Formats: sequence, structure tokens, C-alpha cells
Amino acid sequence: MFSAGNLNKFQQTETPFYYYNLDLLKDTLQACKDASQKYGYHVHYAMKANFNPKVLQTIQSYGFGADCVSGNEVKAAIEYGFGKDRVVFAGVGKSDKEINTALDLDIFCFNVESVQELLVINDLAGAKGKTARVAIRINPNVDAHTHHYITTGLEENKFGVNVWQLPDVADTLRNCNNLELTGIHFHIGSQITDMEAFRSLCVRVNELHEWFVQRGFNIKVLNVGGGLGVNYYSPDHDNIADFESYFKVFNDFLEVKPGQEVHFELGRALVAQCASLIARVLYVKNGLKKNFLVLDAGMTELIRPMLYQAYHQIENISQSSDNRQQTIDIKYDVVGPICESTDCFRKDVDLPESFRGDLIAVRTAGAYGEVMASHYNLRDQVQSIYSE
Ligand SMILES: *Cc1c(COP(=O)(O)O)cnc(C)c1O
Repeated sequence: MFSAGNLNKFQQTETPFYYYNLDLLKDTLQACKDASQKYGYHVHYAMKANFNPKVLQTIQSYGFGADCVSGNEVKAAIEYGFGKDRVVFAGVGKSDKEINTALDLDIFCFNVESVQELLVINDLAGAKGKTARVAIRINPNVDAHTHHYITTGLEENKFGVNVWQLPDVADTLRNCNNLELTGIHFHIGSQITDMEAFRSLCVRVNELHEWFVQRGFNIKVLNVGGGLGVNYYSPDHDNIADFESYFKVFNDFLEVKPGQEVHFELGRALVAQCASLIARVLYVKNGLKKNFLVLDAGMTELIRPMLYQAYHQIENISQSSDNRQQTIDIKYDVVGPICESTDCFRKDVDLPESFRGDLIAVRTAGAYGEVMASHYNLRDQVQSIYSE
């Protein structure tokens, strides 16, 4: 995956840094655009996955909308040129300040997660003499078959309104003069690779859609969220998510009425494969039972393995380049420099014998990577370099 030119550039760059392959990003965006346009679907990019300026500019230039989860994301989306009529604002804990920001910017829609939030938005919109467009985020109780830390569509999760609360939602909507219902919203989790989960989602959406229609509500938008997964195990051979199959499931199973729009909120599937975290081996520690590679990057640069046991492919790109002799594989625990025992990218990684100064690539780091970096231990801000 990394050319000799890449390696040359990496060797001359201070580590750690994120390397972005913008060509792969563009190919991914084009594939998603083509597959979604086939059915007239609208895709909003879930900005929290990566708000690196170059990434945002590139995504914006392909005509996607933006799915935001904070007032600052709403502001940034509009500053980066995502049209306000294509900006949605989700999140279980929107503050009054954030709601006011979004009302002032006239965004397309708030995805609302509780009855109390409906009342607050109604009051704040009323105070400005505005009408807020809202969609109800419903918890469909669908198991996404993903890691339990990143599943969001079960009744035990904090997200969305549960089905038994819908009568209360319907009454509230009828009584609130400063709210306009645009549609219903769902998001069942992340890194979902089993298309069956999306089929189950469609079945639930159809039922809940019907519930609203029978009560006289005009549902203009069915927003089915995001969550499409990527292949963390094979980043070179399977580097673009299967958007065709994904959208086809919705075309096959979602009941859409004439004039209705179907919206998606993809984050990870658009950006995960386009970046790697590049680090150097600082020290090799050979123990009696364990060998450690201590890198100059850790949970402060990429926290996913430590936060939710995420798997990332780890490669020694100095040793695998052809200028050195291949040696036998050794098992290493690949760890960071941070003063926490959990600061480990993975245990028992098979790698060629590795040395101080070798470059290590942690692959598929474009989603929830750079954006979750922290200054813990007063670390430097992580840098980024780009293909071009
Ligand atoms: C995080 C999030 C998404 C995007 O999830 P991915 O797994 O990155 O596609 C979409 N919608 C909502 C409401 C989210 O919170």
C-alpha cells in the first residue's frame, strides 16, 4: 500500500502523524455517491468521524450534507460550505446554547431524542419567533450485532425515544406551535457489517412509519442513520465499503411513499480507510514471556483500541519494504508511551523482527482517529500529511 515515495517522505517527517490518502477518499466518496444516487437517496456525512479541514473540504465538494452532533459542528459544517438546508443536528444532550446556534443558522432539522428536548426546542424557537424542523429519533430495538460499546439501537441505550413513549411524543408535537415534524430518524450503531441488521431496521422503520401516518402525521423524511462498517482486517484488498449492497438493502426492504426522501448519515464508511497513523519504534523490550515494541504514538493519537477494543492492522513498513532482508516473525505487544497500562494497540502482533527507528503503520485510522486525539501527558498536537 505504501509506495517507495511514501516511505521516503515518511522517513523525513517527524512522527507520529496521520497520513491521508486523498485519492482513496475521493474514490470512496464517488462510489458512495454513485450507489446512493441510483435510488435518489440523500447522504449526510457524520462529521464527528473526522473533521480534518482537508477531509471536510473534499467531502463537501462531492455534494454531501452534514450530520452534526454539537453546536460547533453545525457552525463548522456551514463554514465549510455544507448548505444549511442539508445540515442536521443529532445528539442526546443538546445544550440550550447549541440549540440556539442551530436555530439562528436555520438548519434543515433537529433529530430529537426525548419529549423534554421537544419542549425545550419549542420554547427556544418560540422565543425567536421561529419554527424548528424536527425529526424524532426512535429507538427501534434492533440489535446491530456490533461491539456492545458502539451499539445504540437497543432499549437499554441512552439514545432516542422508546416505542412506548411515542403517544407522548405525538401529543407533544400536536401541542407545540413552534415545531414542524419532518420525519423519523434511526441510528442503530456503528461498524455494522451484517446486512441483516439493516434489513431488520427497515422492517421496524416500516412499522413505525405507519404508526405516524395512521395518526395523521406527514412524514417527509425517513432518516435511517449510518453505521456501515469497513474491513479493518484487509485495508488493501477491501478498501472501499460495499455501498452497492448497503443501499440495495434499503431499496429492497424500506417502504417509501411517493415524494418522500430517504436520508443516510454515513461517517466511518466514508473516511476510515483513507488514513493511517504512522509512528516510529522508540524501544524494543525483550522480556522472558513478552516482547514489546514501544512506539512514539499511543492512546493520545489513536484511542480506539483502548476505548473499545477496536482492531487495527499494524504493519512494520520499514521492514516490509524491499530494501531490507525479511526475517522471521516475532510476537510483539505494540504499546504507546502513555502512563496507562491500557495504552496498548494490540497484544501478540506478528511482525518481522523490528528495531528502534522502524516506521509502523496503524491502518484504517481515518474514522474516530485524529479527531479523538488528546493532550493527555501534555503531548504535542498530532500532525497530518497528505498524498498529493
Ligand atoms: C455517529 C453517528 C453516525 C455515523 O456513524 P458511523 O458508524 O460512523 O457511520 C450517524 N448518525 C448518528 C446519529 C451518529 O451519532
